[in-house]
Amino acid sequence: MRVLVTGAKGQLGSDVILELENEGFKYKGLDINKLDLTDFQSTRDVFLEYMPDVVIHSAAFTDVEKAELEVEKCRRINVDATGNIAMLCNSINAKLVYISTDYVFSGDSAEPYEIDSKPGPLSVYGRSKLDGEFEVMRKTDKFFIIRTSWAYGVSGKNFVSTMLRIGKKQESVDVVSDQVGSPTYTADLSKLIVSMIKTEKYGVYHATNEGFCSWAEFAVEIFRLANLPIKVNFITTDMYPVNVIRPKNSTMSKRALDINGFVRLPHWMISLES
Ligand code: NDP
Repeated sequence: MRVLVTGAKGQLGSDVILELENEGFKYKGLDINKLDLTDFQSTRDVFLEYMPDVVIHSAAFTDVEKAELEVEKCRRINVDATGNIAMLCNSINAKLVYISTDYVFSGDSAEPYEIDSKPGPLSVYGRSKLDGEFEVMRKTDKFFIIRTSWAYGVSGKNFVSTMLRIGKKQESVDVVSDQVGSPTYTADLSKLIVSMIKTEKYGVYHATNEGFCSWAEFAVEIFRLANLPIKVNFITTDMYPVNVIRPKNSTMSKRALDINGFVRLPHWMISLES
């Protein structure tokens, strides 16, 4: 089985590649220096030359604040390029894994979102990822749409690395406490993705690490584990002005993993239950 991975230098893509190596898959990792996915002709050439059996599409415009300012650029990669990739997968009968996000939801619900809960993105990024989902569903059948949240890996810029950087310079930090979600370790998610591609259990999934917390609670835990004596000031979203509205509660039910009959592997941190 040949696997093509987009976003191979991103935090999730790089962990997916490690997992594919562990599992002995043949793979090709694509990063933006090798191929700009918004260039359709070049993308098609790479697909037709490599003829993957599976495409793990992890590349995206992921800067949520910048997306508000660079709407067209964000949509070119998250919507148009995703649609082209789905179409190419369909034409060569390849399975497609598309990584989506909790930001497709508005965050107004008191309950965790189900797979079939009504989406209501608040941001340009969330809208573009949802439209990417629609492109995938419209253009191919053999897809896994995996919605995850608050991703962090060992490499890359994420909340954990930002807090650790701040923690080396400051004695206290203000962090919002009225947005709740499920932090997800990309190495765990990669294990799930790589086991999914061995199956034909297509559909939409929610996959996050177990539990939920606010950003402020997450920061407290990061500093505790890193043994850094940093005071976290719990603030509210309106005290931290940014140009983007984020969901207040973006926790997602993972029940659908069971409903779709996906295999339960108890050693994973990723819970298959809500
Ligand atoms: P990263 O930003 O770490 O990785 C995304 C990669 O995509 C980057 O290496 C980026 O390259 C590349 N890329 C961007 N534009 C293009 C392009 N036009 N052509 C080719 N490559 C491009 O993101 P993550 O690993 O964190 O995210 C992986 C997936 O998970 C994404 O689809 C994201 O939407 C989704 N997701 C992420 C969450 C998170 O908290 N991070 C939460 C929920 C979902 P470069 O850096 O050079 O721009």
